[in-house]
Amino acid sequence: MLQAKCRVLANSLICGNFFKLVLQNKSIAAQAKPGQFINIRVDKGQDLLLRRPLSIYLAKDDKLEIIYKVVGRGTDKLAQVKEQEKLDVIGPLGNGYTLTAGKALLVGGGTGIASLVFLAAALKTKFNSVPTVLIGAKSKEDLLCFTALEKIGCAVKAATADGSVGFHGLVTELFREIVAIFSTHPSMVYACGPRPMLRELVRLCRHFRIPCEISLEEHLGCGVGACLGCVVKGAKNEYLRVCKEGPVFKASEVIL
Ligand SMILES: Cc1cc2nc3c(=O)[nH]c(=O)nc-3n(C[C@H](O)[C@H](O)[C@H](O)COP(=O)(O)OP(=O)(O)OC[C@H]3O[C@@H](n4cnc5c(N)ncnc54)[C@H](O)[C@@H]3O)c2cc1C
Repeated sequence: MLQAKCRVLANSLICGNFFKLVLQNKSIAAQAKPGQFINIRVDKGQDLLLRRPLSIYLAKDDKLEIIYKVVGRGTDKLAQVKEQEKLDVIGPLGNGYTLTAGKALLVGGGTGIASLVFLAAALKTKFNSVPTVLIGAKSKEDLLCFTALEKIGCAVKAATADGSVGFHGLVTELFREIVAIFSTHPSMVYACGPRPMLRELVRLCRHFRIPCEISLEEHLGCGVGACLGCVVKGAKNEYLRVCKEGPVFKASEVIL
């Protein structure tokens, strides 16, 4: 884990109210693993003291890329940051996904899709196999990373709640259909997205007996395991810190 002032190489609107931020830092980029996140100080003053956690979308050479949605004061401030400014960043943080060989199926909803792109690229590099990816959003405008995933070589299928593109319905409903027609079940499911999506997906994976890893996007406090502000209930009745033991968990480890 490092703390560094990272130069902003780009920070631009990509669709809807989603932005792509490109930061320059060789050391953090070199250490970054899929599923990990960085914690960014978005305010130089005293107003917003807590850093904002954002998943690493891609890390290559000296560049770290992030995709974020403007939802409140912190991300709104971040969207106003200009090229060449510097941001105080701590990272990479958290544990990341376990890379396993075999037929992986990735499932993402909303901003959760961003962390799956780095994972898909890493699975391809490590095992020379490209996963199938299911991505879900409310509408066409909110559907992230379709082209980026296709460029990696993934078979990408989209689901939108309003039916504006792809499967009309929830990504978990698409998952149930796809898994039913897979000649053999995927060997591993990796997922990131909103709680209700993950809860249903975990239930389905249990039903189909497919191992599953989920990444949680909880509200974080410190991001380094000290404040216990992000705990979730573990399956052994213990509390697990999303920022330290997570954000990626085996589905069987946590109670959603
Ligand atoms: C490990 C991790 C990785 C993440 N990766 C990404 C990412 O790649 N891209 C991205 O856009 N977002 C990601 N998030 C969520 C992101 O951190 C929050 O959206 C951001 O901190 C909100 O800050 P804000 O000041 O703009 O919003 P606030 O003003 O703090 O809140 C605005 C609204 O958003 C809600 N909100 C705030 N934080 C969260 C959260 N973590 N989950 C759900 N709702 C929240 C609040 O309840 C409120 O309704 C991630 C979160 C975690 C923990």
